[in-house]
Amino acid sequence: MLKLEQFVFNPFSENTYVVYDENTKECVIIDPGCSNAGEENELFDFIDSHHLKPLMVINTHGHIDHIMGNTAAKKKYGIKVAAHPNVKNDFLRSRQQAAMFGLPFMGDCDLPDVDLEDGEIIKVGESTLEVISTPGHAMGSISLYAEIEGWVFTGDALFCRSIGRTDLPGGNYEQLRTNIIERLFHLPDDTEVYAGHDQSTTIFDERRYNMFL
Ligand SMILES: [Zn+2]
Ligand SMILES: [Zn+2]
Repeated sequence: MLKLEQFVFNPFSENTYVVYDENTKECVIIDPGCSNAGEENELFDFIDSHHLKPLMVINTHGHIDHIMGNTAAKKKYGIKVAAHPNVKNDFLRSRQQAAMFGLPFMGDCDLPDVDLEDGEIIKVGESTLEVISTPGHAMGSISLYAEIEGWVFTGDALFCRSIGRTDLPGGNYEQLRTNIIERLFHLPDDTEVYAGHDQSTTIFDERRYNMFL
């Protein structure tokens, strides 16, 4: 069984997750949003003090608040960054995105090293994360489903009682709505939803109470 640790980083209160197998110590870092040395240390201290072995960074999409810690994590652990191939335009705009949102980010994000396609299975210790393509908030947005644990990481596609904004480049409301209903709402009712911002929820509660859908 996997365990997870949640961090809240950068001025957008973005959720960064470390998902790890307690037996093998393997872990993945989902959306490292660290925006300064203090946040980087908080993330790395957790990983190091639990003797975890990071396998890769996975980005749910290419918005700056979810990728600004990529370079630090890559450097620290010598790991690769994995994301859907359609995130490239957002990565290329990372410096521009930072300026637009007034974020203290001066570098350019390298393009992801590894492409993740819909249906791909990522092994973490004795468990798996399945890639579910859920674009609409941004191009190349993915969700990550941990079937054994009953978790889904939705990035900025689905939030507790809300959905991702669709007014940024690459956004498409109809596409987002269709993906949430046809891809995420088919997951089991008790699946815990870990989103890119705010608190967690369940598929059951969102199907029932999310007024944006
Ligand atoms: Zn976003
Ligand atoms: Zn976000």
